[in-house]
Amino acid sequence: MKKFKEAFEKIKNANHIVLAAHKNPDGDALGSSLGMYAVLKEIGKRVTVFNVTSPLPKYLDFLPNFNKVTNTLPKEYDLMISLDCASFDRIGIEKRPPFLINIDHHISNTNYGDINIINPKAAATAQIVFEFLKANSLPINKDAATSLYAAILTDTGSFQYDSVDERVFQIASELIKHGANPAYVAKMLFQRDSLSRLRLLAKAYDTIEMCCDGKAAFVEVTKEMLEITGATRDDTDTIVNSVRNIEPVEIACMLREDEDGIKISLRSKNYADVSKIAVKYKGGGHIRAAGATIKEFDFEKIKNMLKEDIKEALKEDK
Ligand code: 5GP
Ligand code: MN
Repeated sequence: MKKFKEAFEKIKNANHIVLAAHKNPDGDALGSSLGMYAVLKEIGKRVTVFNVTSPLPKYLDFLPNFNKVTNTLPKEYDLMISLDCASFDRIGIEKRPPFLINIDHHISNTNYGDINIINPKAAATAQIVFEFLKANSLPINKDAATSLYAAILTDTGSFQYDSVDERVFQIASELIKHGANPAYVAKMLFQRDSLSRLRLLAKAYDTIEMCCDGKAAFVEVTKEMLEITGATRDDTDTIVNSVRNIEPVEIACMLREDEDGIKISLRSKNYADVSKIAVKYKGGGHIRAAGATIKEFDFEKIKNMLKEDIKEALKEDK
């Protein structure tokens, strides 16, 4: 791919590269950043991994070089590579970088970079990073392999989503050859829950409300629940996925009370496009996973609004 070569030329000529993923990063955002970091360091580049969010989610602290991620942008740098950011504002900076390479797999990507490497078919941004590294014969070391594998594992819901095809398993297999340890990564990601998180899940699941003949379900997380259980916002991460697991549910929606409003997380199972709903509320995402923050604190009001949108989205079933 021509763009992979063009991007690598820019990297070769850069003195100081900043890697930046979206605010409130997930496994793909940080895994793609740290995967790219490990390789660019190995070839002798000066690299800073930036993320505007601090503190970062603790469940990702096993990613190699996690503690190198900083929320301070260097005073001088000549190239930024954004990873997993559908729009420029998701990076969380004001000023445009001197040059920007935009690597992403969101269908809603706005092509805000100077070079845009967008593949909505990729299961994770880490998959595009992998293809980029291969196309330029770059050395994928153990640290890079671990981060990229973790990114793919999280963004495919542990290889469960429609995005998973033969290529995804080929890449996973190559990453294992390069040193990623699947059991280790799975344990780090999924077997380090805190008791607080489990107590929070119990409270949240208690609020599940089914609607639309069981095809949709809402779940709520209030600030009070977090305070009582001692859980953090990061602990809410998988709640909406579990609600989608209910057999007839096509669309699951979590409403979480944040400082600036109610954050909605939407998931669909087979056919509904939830990114359309998120975009309506100035958010974004993918067909099967999307989100937005609504500047309003009334759970019932938001649920009533969303019920109408969800009914519309459910009509897509043919
Ligand atoms: P989650 O519900 O886990 O926060 O996010 C699911 C997907 O929607 C992710 O791909 C995430 O990047 C995207 N997303 C979540 N919240 C927002 C938002 O406020 N704005 C945009 N543009 N995308 C979001
Ligand atoms: Mn992603």
